[in-house]
Amino acid sequence: MSELSPRQRAWVEVYPTAIEANCRLLCRQLVTGCQLMAVVKADGYGHGAVTVARASLRGGASSLGVATLQEGLELRDAGIEAPVLILSALPSPEDLRHCLEQRLMPTLSSLDEANTAAAVAAERGNERFPVQLKLDTGMARLGGEWQEGAQLVQSIRTLPQLELVGLYSHLACADELGDQLTHLQLQRFRSVIEALPDGGSGLCCHLANSAGTLQDPRLHLDMVRVGLALYGQSPADHLGLDLALQPALAVKARVSLIREVPSGSGVSYGHRFVTSRPSRLAVIAIGYADGVVRALSGRIDVLHRGRRVPQVGNITMDQIILDATDVEELTVGDNVTLLGQDGDDCIRPQDWSARCGSIPWEILCGFKHRLPRVEI
Ligand SMILES: *Cc1c(COP(=O)(O)O)cnc(C)c1O
Repeated sequence: MSELSPRQRAWVEVYPTAIEANCRLLCRQLVTGCQLMAVVKADGYGHGAVTVARASLRGGASSLGVATLQEGLELRDAGIEAPVLILSALPSPEDLRHCLEQRLMPTLSSLDEANTAAAVAAERGNERFPVQLKLDTGMARLGGEWQEGAQLVQSIRTLPQLELVGLYSHLACADELGDQLTHLQLQRFRSVIEALPDGGSGLCCHLANSAGTLQDPRLHLDMVRVGLALYGQSPADHLGLDLALQPALAVKARVSLIREVPSGSGVSYGHRFVTSRPSRLAVIAIGYADGVVRALSGRIDVLHRGRRVPQVGNITMDQIILDATDVEELTVGDNVTLLGQDGDDCIRPQDWSARCGSIPWEILCGFKHRLPRVEI
C-alpha cells in the first residue's frame, strides 16, 4: 500500500454536503408533487458517482440517472438501492439482461427495442421489466418520434412482460438566451400525454434538465432530471443565479518548485510567454493530462490564499507555470486552487469554459482519474 497522501501533488476536493444542500434547495423550487432525479452520469460529473448519489438521496432526490450500464452497475455494487434510469440506448439483449437483474431501468426509443426488452424479460419467467419510453420532441438524438408517441405508449402497454413506468423527452435549447424551442417541445410532449386514453396516469412524465428546471415551473411535470445545478453550477448566466447553489468541487495542486529568472526568459514549450522583468516562477504539479485544458494556456489565474496568481506560457502535460513575482509569500509546498473557492474569491468552471470555447459540463467531467478525489 502506498503511504502517499492523496494531496501530495494535485487533487480534486469534493463537498458532499454542498451537493446535499443544492439538492434540498432545488427540491424546494419544484412544483408540488414533482420529484427530482439526480443525474450522476460521467462519474457524477467528475465528483464521484457514488458520493454524489448518496448525497443527493440524502438531499431529497428520489431516483438517479446514469448514461451507461456500467455506471448503473457501479451504483448497485456500492449498495445503492434507489431507482436508476439509464439515459442512453442499450440495444444489446445482454445489456438488458443485466438491467433486469440489477433493477436498472432502460430507456426505449422504439417498439423494436420494447420487443427485445420483452423477450429478455420472458426468459426470466413472470418478472415484469420496468422500462421508460423516450420521445424526441426537438433534440434529434434519442427517442421515438413524438407524433407517434401515444401509439407507441399503447403498443408497449400491450406487452405483458414490460411495465412502462415513465415517459420522457429532452430539451435542446433550454439554456440559450431568448430560447423559443423549449415551449414548443413542452407543447409536443403534452400533446402526447393528452392523447393517451388515461391522460398518462400511472406514467412518470419528465422533460426538464437543470436549465428547464430553473427556467419555468411549467416544465417540471412529474419529475425533473438535474445534473449541473446539483453540482452548484448554473447552466447559463441568466439562470439560477438567484439561488445560493454551492460549488461542490475544488481543484487544487501544490507548488513543486520556485525559480528566479532574468528579464527576457522564454517560458514553457514554444516560449509563448517571455518575461518582461526579473521574475519569480512557480511550477505547479498539474497539467492537461489531469484535465487542465491546454487551450487555457496563459488565460487563467490560480488562487493562493484568496489572491490571484497568473498562469503563464503553455500548459504542459503534467505541470503549469505561474508568474509569482508579485506574490512573495508563495513558497514550495503551498497549495493553490485552480477551480473553486479560496478566501473570498472563487474560480468557476464557467470562467474556464468561456475562455476556451467549451461549456462547464465538459470542464467538470474532464478531470481525470489521475487526480485523487478527496471528500471533505
Ligand atoms: C445529462 C442529462 C441531463 C442532465 O442535464 P443537466 O443540464 O446537467 O442538468 C438530463 N437529462 C438527460 C437525458 C441527460 O442526458
